[in-house]
Order: sequence, then C-alpha cells, then structure tokens
Amino acid sequence: MTVRVRYAPSPTGPLHIGSARTVLYNWLFARQHGGKMILRSEDTDRERSDVKWEQEICQSLRWLGLDWDEGVDAGGDCGPYRQTQRLELYRDYIQRLEQQGRTYYCFCTPEDLEARRQQSRYEHGGYDGACRQLSAQEVARRLEQGESAAVRFRVPRDTKVEFNDLVRGDIAVETAEISDFVILKKDGIPTYNFAVVVDDVTMGISHVIRANEHLINTPRQILLYQALGEQPPAFAHISLILDKSGRKMSKRMGDTAVDAYAQKGYLPEAIVNYIALLGWSPEDEQEIFSLEELVAEFDMGRVSRSPAIFDVKKLDWMNNQYIMQTDTGRLADMAMEVLAGQGVEVARGREWLRQVIEVVRDELANLAQLAEFLPEFTEEEVEISPQAMESLTWEHSGLVLDQFISRLKQLDSLTSDSVGEMLKQLNKDIKKQTGSGGKTVFMPVRAALSGQTSGQELYLLVPLLGRELALKRIDFCRRAATDSGVNNE
Ligand code: GLU
Repeated sequence: MTVRVRYAPSPTGPLHIGSARTVLYNWLFARQHGGKMILRSEDTDRERSDVKWEQEICQSLRWLGLDWDEGVDAGGDCGPYRQTQRLELYRDYIQRLEQQGRTYYCFCTPEDLEARRQQSRYEHGGYDGACRQLSAQEVARRLEQGESAAVRFRVPRDTKVEFNDLVRGDIAVETAEISDFVILKKDGIPTYNFAVVVDDVTMGISHVIRANEHLINTPRQILLYQALGEQPPAFAHISLILDKSGRKMSKRMGDTAVDAYAQKGYLPEAIVNYIALLGWSPEDEQEIFSLEELVAEFDMGRVSRSPAIFDVKKLDWMNNQYIMQTDTGRLADMAMEVLAGQGVEVARGREWLRQVIEVVRDELANLAQLAEFLPEFTEEEVEISPQAMESLTWEHSGLVLDQFISRLKQLDSLTSDSVGEMLKQLNKDIKKQTGSGGKTVFMPVRAALSGQTSGQELYLLVPLLGRELALKRIDFCRRAATDSGVNNE
C-alpha cells in the first residue's frame, strides 16, 4: 500500500506546538514508509479563516524543516487543496448519498433545535430526527417556497462502528449514540465531518494521524466512508498536550505558537526533537535525535495514550544542547535576526556577536537571552564586586594595570592569540619586577576589565571588549576603587 498522510489545518491562527507535533508524526510516518505528505487547508469557516494564517503555518513548517509533497503551495494531482475551492466536489458527493437515500433535508432552525435539545435522547444534545420522516411532497413544497434546508446524513440504526486505532486500540461505538448529523449546512458549505471524508477519499489518504480531539468524529466519518462504498483509512489519534499544571496548553501559561519559539531563538531541530518526545518514547534512554534518526527510530506503536506534559525547562535544556553543538556562524546569523526582532541593536556586527556566542553559549537556553549578556561586553560602567574592588587595592595592582594598558595600546590587532601572548609576557615581566605573578597579575586585570573576579578567559574577553572599551572600563573601575577610598596608587 502506498502511504499517503495529510496535515489539514484550519487556517485560523498560527501553528501551535501541538499541531507541529501532529505534523511531525505524519511526516515521520510518511518518510519511514516512502510515502507522501499532503498539506490541505480546511478553510470552510469563512469568518475565522485567513490565507495569512495559511501562509504563516506554511512558513512555520518550513522553518521546522517539515516539507510536504503535495498541497497548498506545492500543487499536485489531487488539488485544489483548499476546501473552499472544492465546493463542487462536495456537492457531487452529497448527490451520491442523496441518490442512495442516505440523506434528508432538514428545515429546523437553530431556535427549533435549541428548544428541543433538552429532550434529546442523545448524550450531547444531538438531533432528534424531526425532519427524518418528512414526505417527499412536503420537502418539495417547502423548498419551493424558498425555505432553506441543511442536508443531514441518515445514520444507520442498530449497528456498531468498530475500528482499530493505531494508538488507542480497538474502539466500538453504537450508532444509537450518534444522531443524524448535518453534512451540508444551509449556506451550502459542507461540515467538517463530510468535507474531511471527501478530501481523504479523493486524495487517497491511507493513514489519518491527528489530534485526539477528533476521535469523537471518527465513527461519523467511518459511517460516511461506508455509505460512499469507500475503504476507511487507518486512524491514529494522538493525545493532548498539557501544561505542567495538567491543563490544556494555553497562551496564559507560556508560548503555544511555534513562531514564538522561533522569535526567541530556539533552534528548529531542538523544537522538532523536543516535540517528537512529547508522547513518543524510544526504546532506550536516548534523548537527542536528529531528524534522520527520528525517521529511523520513530514507532507509531510506541506513541502514548496518555496526555503529554509540555515542560519548557526540558525544552530549554534541549535547546542548550543544540546551541552547544551548532556552528557559531549559523547561530550568529540566527541571533542577529532574533535580536533585531527584539529591538536589540548589535552595533559591533555579526562577527563580534559570533565571538560573544562562543564565549557565553553554555549559559544560553535560547538566542534571545543573548540580550542579557551583551551589556557585559558593551557597557562602559559595570558593577564591581567587593572581591574585585579589593583586588584593585593590592600592592602591585597599580603597576600591573599601567603596564597592561600600555601593552594593550601597542598591540596591532586584538585577537585571542595576540592578547594571550601579551598577557603571558606581562605576567613574566611583573614577576621579574615584583617577585610575584599569576593571581597578582590576572586578578586585577580581570577585576578592572569586568568588575568581577571570575568569568570568561581574559584572552577571549579583551578582543570582545575591544581596545577602546577595555581602556574605558579600566579607567572606570580604577576610579571607582579610588572613590571608595581604597586608593592603590
Ligand atoms: N482541520 C482540523 C483541525 O485543524 C483537522 C482535522 C483532521 O485532521 O481531520 O483540527
């Protein structure tokens, strides 16, 4: 069998993390089986749908590296791939059901339905079947009078819908629990349950992998497949994603849109890796997976039935792992964009930012956090710790700093090599002059450059500060030491 899967978003908002996981599982399944991935836009909710969202969803998918073989923006033999462009097709299929007596017109108004809903024998207030028995003459008369009608599917009675869900196992639902549902609304627009079946049939979908919230619709859809004489696809319903407090993931508790993570400088491969593990567990303890490894390892049979918990701390940890192993050139390109998006100007440019990343990346959960580190390398005035202040008062600190300054001024170019060499020589010379080196030299230099007694390697810090700022810092720190009354000169 050729595997054909689809992702069918309603373009009413950005791509949610949970939907990204749905796409990923579809995508992995397709790639594992040499199948095709289709992207289709379920845009029949005209009020809420907007192509702007469709484009944004496509963009987020591309950013994640999840491509599709057919569909919106890709074309293909089963198009068009937007439901609003397929209305003719749905009408043909409605007619097919009509001809087999599987449908009836329903003239009930929302008010009628509401008034009777309380008495409905269906658990969730389904339809009581009032128009099921209308005679052909009455229907014809009312249509002629211009009364508008929806089309309902005649659910077969006294039978069961049974199917095996690839995640949830065997499922059986009595049709007594399913009321006759609308397949074509009064405005001529098909309902989700009907359009999705027509689309999945005509697009040759073999596996429907989707969110668990649609499990309730599946028996209805299977009834439609049966009525149309079509073989239903295999179904896999993936569990909800909850936040740490056990509630459905919501904006209130943190970012839910993939785009928000992109803007904060999470790496797409970290997001993919993280969401792959939201509901799927590999056989061993491995946690870091490339997309290729996921294609090889992912197993629909190991997708959990219980809800997954979204833990941003875990995502931060994972993103840091990726930041540590990613080429700093690429990180710098991404970070320039991320910081620009946050309104942070990187006056000294991309190469300088790349060097900053090299120095601080082990502390980054995402690239937007660079903004908090930049002042360390750009501000003239720094906070000075008591230990740093004290080291500036040591007996030889004045001499050390004077000599450091004059050598710094003489260096042709500031590179980690040239600065490293200069510091080594300075240490040697001071030792010769005073009898002590090491801490006596490096501590006051560090204190005067950063206000701290620990931190980045000096040979990395100095080139990042640059000559001008390094000199200003030293001046600032020395003055602060003088003002605090512990003059060392
Ligand atoms: N448009 C539906 C949604 O966004 C997709 C339903 C399906 O995959 O069948 O939830």
